[in-house]
Amino acid sequence: MKIGVLGFQGGIYEHVNMLKRLFSEEKYSGEVLLVRRERELNKVDGIILPGGESTTIGIIMDKMGLTSELRDKIRDGLPVLGVCAGAVLMAKKVVDKIVGEKEQDTLSVMDIGVIRNYFGRQVESFEVDLHIPEIDEKAFRGVFIRAPVFEILNDNVEILAKLGKVNVAALQNSMIAVAFHPELTNDYRIHLLFLKMVKR
Ligand code: GLN
Repeated sequence: MKIGVLGFQGGIYEHVNMLKRLFSEEKYSGEVLLVRRERELNKVDGIILPGGESTTIGIIMDKMGLTSELRDKIRDGLPVLGVCAGAVLMAKKVVDKIVGEKEQDTLSVMDIGVIRNYFGRQVESFEVDLHIPEIDEKAFRGVFIRAPVFEILNDNVEILAKLGKVNVAALQNSMIAVAFHPELTNDYRIHLLFLKMVKR
């Protein structure tokens, strides 16, 4: 299988490295591809949208002419894992906790609304153990960096993880959105969950 990582901005290589380690340790015959153009997008069986700055990634993606192609692919069922800013790009509704309502174009593929920067600014980053039954019983270390939270807009969105009252991971069809950064841990269980949704 070929897994793409959207290669414009943010924590790109952390995902590349985690995928490579996962492929070798779990004996997947997989390949990782950076996706910046349509010809690369056409080769992948699943794609990761990394964290970073969603407005920046959105602008570059537009300039590169990839937005509508990626949107169509995901709507046609291309499995996608959106991490933090990547999850913001998947959302159908976006609000910013700090600056409030703001026009932001996204791929608009998943029935979630996001509140960006819900926990505050960079200095308010934190780590916390999360309970994600879909994976297994062992705690998952959630690394939160200017993370969003998710509002569920449709019944067929499943909440994968909560932090207190707010949703921090969600699943719909073959789309996973996580507010925290699994690629900044040594724990690839979220990536493994994602790979299981990708057809070989
Ligand atoms: N706050 C950023 C955004 O909304 C996301 C931060 C991150 O990806 N760590 O785009």
